[in-house]
Amino acid sequence: MLTLAILEGDDIGREVVPECVKVMREAAAAVDLAIDWKPMPISRAGHAAAGHTVPPGTLETLATYDGWVLGPIGHREYPKGDPTWLNPHPLFRTHFGLFANYKPFRSYPNLPSVHKDIDLLFLRETTEGFKVDGNLFMGYGEFMPTEDSAIGICVTTKLKSRLIAEAAFEAAARRPRRKVTAVHKNTVYRYGDGLFADECRKVAARFPDVEFEEVIVDTFAMRLVMKPQQYDTIVTTNLYGDILTDEAAGLVGGLGLAPGVNASETLAMAQATHGSAPDIAGRGIANPYAMIMSGKLLFEWLAGKRSEPKAARAAGLIEAAMSAVIAEGAQLTPDLGGSASTQAMGDAVARAIGTAGR
Ligand code: ATP
Repeated sequence: MLTLAILEGDDIGREVVPECVKVMREAAAAVDLAIDWKPMPISRAGHAAAGHTVPPGTLETLATYDGWVLGPIGHREYPKGDPTWLNPHPLFRTHFGLFANYKPFRSYPNLPSVHKDIDLLFLRETTEGFKVDGNLFMGYGEFMPTEDSAIGICVTTKLKSRLIAEAAFEAAARRPRRKVTAVHKNTVYRYGDGLFADECRKVAARFPDVEFEEVIVDTFAMRLVMKPQQYDTIVTTNLYGDILTDEAAGLVGGLGLAPGVNASETLAMAQATHGSAPDIAGRGIANPYAMIMSGKLLFEWLAGKRSEPKAARAAGLIEAAMSAVIAEGAQLTPDLGGSASTQAMGDAVARAIGTAGR
């Protein structure tokens, strides 16, 4: 029995998370995978219920579960400077040490995309690097010594570099191409990126069956646009990964098609790349793809870490059902060129699992 929490988030989170959970429930039922689902109020709902976006006891309870599904957070509209309106997402990342962000990108033949035949998996380290501001234990990674100048710091440790490299090689070893590309700029950032590159090389030596290469980040950004098919699994640091994964989302059709999972060595959080999209919230037109496929990634992660083969089968059913719904094309949301609602697309994926899985 797995225990998974449901954290809806704000705005379109309240529309796409229920579709994700619906599809995950259907896939789990099809393979007899028992899941105890635990809805927990956070973000605006948490504030309404308990006066805090992360109500007391939330972190302690989540620590006892196998993982959770987190919807996007409308943090930009939260009151500033009020400690009861924390953005839950960076807090979860820091508190639980969710250092590995898995982000796959694939193109579909009948959806508009810059290139065809894209099948990429990014492994982005998310607790250090240049984006330390939201991740520090205390303090802020950017400061202004005078009103005309600003200084930012970058943190790189051997431990996190090794862990993210290991996650990348383990993932690549399960993919058909078995290839890892480490993206950095050790030519300029000789200590931080140098240390990251060294750790990647050490881990590569332990995986002789996985091809390994290193590419400097600016060259990689260009090649990713020109010929993304030459890459398979990409491992990189926090800020480079942040930028390059949005570039990859653009290559396959936009943010609605960008799922993700954030994981430590023991816990994982399904989280789509997109934000809470207040501009389209409440209209039932948000694309549930990214959130549903984030749930699929959570199943995949659980299959590996909890040695749960049923979770791997459930993930496979979701992937196949989503591909079938996209290929069929009748139940797609407006951003994908269709006219279906969020719920209709979620229903179609759940139905396709029912058809394939039983
Ligand atoms: P954040 O800073 O919280 O990550 P953001 O500024 O990156 O948010 P989003 O909320 O992701 O912005 O929205 C960016 C644009 O993409 C908006 O126009 C939004 O409507 C659109 N968008 C985001 N997610 C989806 C989705 N699931 N389906 C359709 N459109 C979406």
